[in-house]
Amino acid sequence: MGVPLLIPISKPSLGPEVESEVLAVLRSGQLAQGPRVAQLEQAFAELTGCEHAVALSSGTVALELALSTLGLKRGDEVITSPFTFAATLNAIVHAGATARFVDVDENGLLDTSLIQDRITAATRVLVPVHLYGLAVDLTVLRLPPTLILVEDAAQAIGAEVQGQPVGSFGIGCFSLYATKNVTTGEGGIVTTDNAELAERLRLIRNQGMRERYEYLLPGHNYRMTELQAAVGLPQMRRLAETIEMRRRNATVLLDGLADIPGIRLPVVPGGSSHVWHQFTIRVMPEASMSRDILSKRLWDRGIATGIYYPKLVHDHDCYRASDQVQPDSTPRASAMCHEVLSLPVHPGVSDADINHIVNEVRNALGA
Ligand SMILES: *Cc1c(COP(=O)(O)O)cnc(C)c1O
Repeated sequence: MGVPLLIPISKPSLGPEVESEVLAVLRSGQLAQGPRVAQLEQAFAELTGCEHAVALSSGTVALELALSTLGLKRGDEVITSPFTFAATLNAIVHAGATARFVDVDENGLLDTSLIQDRITAATRVLVPVHLYGLAVDLTVLRLPPTLILVEDAAQAIGAEVQGQPVGSFGIGCFSLYATKNVTTGEGGIVTTDNAELAERLRLIRNQGMRERYEYLLPGHNYRMTELQAAVGLPQMRRLAETIEMRRRNATVLLDGLADIPGIRLPVVPGGSSHVWHQFTIRVMPEASMSRDILSKRLWDRGIATGIYYPKLVHDHDCYRASDQVQPDSTPRASAMCHEVLSLPVHPGVSDADINHIVNEVRNALGA
């Protein structure tokens, strides 16, 4: 009896180039931040068309620094999505502001038509989340000129909308965590055209030091290592290729899972280029099986699934007592927590795997 094979929900696409790049770092003796980190930054600047990219130790740190450098005060409001990972909300709380929430659309992305009504005299920042690898269409927004955009692009490396890359609309925050489309194990990147902001982030990440042992401000150690950059660089060179593989898998899934009663498939709006961090279906109440039973059944048959996210980001006791978290009503996002189910779509998913996924979902739902 062999070990039952599981199709994982994420799998890093590393190759021999990563191994030789890491080995080169080990042999060089320079393990801390150095030339490869600078090259990785350059790759993100090129990808987004931004003047500057600053590598940091995680996507959470990217969001936290992007927000904390804005000088937000108690009572200042930051609008974001309730349907996101905890880091988005935590960064707002740590920056000292109050989080406000706007409901999501059919894809689980901020509904841009509702943003205007949430803006108050206290609103300072908008944090759109490019969820599952699909960009929030920021080209349609007519925002007050004083409102600052901080994009949570953790899941959307390489995504574009109306031809413009995510991370170039405002301050871009990317994650290189192990499950993301490009990974360094842990890591984050901020992209910006603002030279002053980039310089400040570089100072903060390195103890506030400019010249050796000259400190301009009390900083932190938020640096990335050469080893991490060595893992990420080859993936950036192959990014177009791995995005294409995800796209191909998504196309076959969309085709194979079409017209199942009670199942809604992701919809790619015109003008958006989806990078398929997740392929997320919605199991509606009228489906012949609940989302949770379908999920368990797929796991039992060797298909890992993900639920992003089972609860609204603020729906936890630790935020309930906080006057920095305003739980605005977002009924669509609340419903979606019970509907969403992500299926494997990464480049490690083979044609045979896709067939298996399609057959098992169809069989489960009698379609
Ligand atoms: C992964 C992720 C983050 C945080 O990134 P880390 O690198 O894990 O700290 C933030 N926001 C979203 C939406 C994410 O998916």
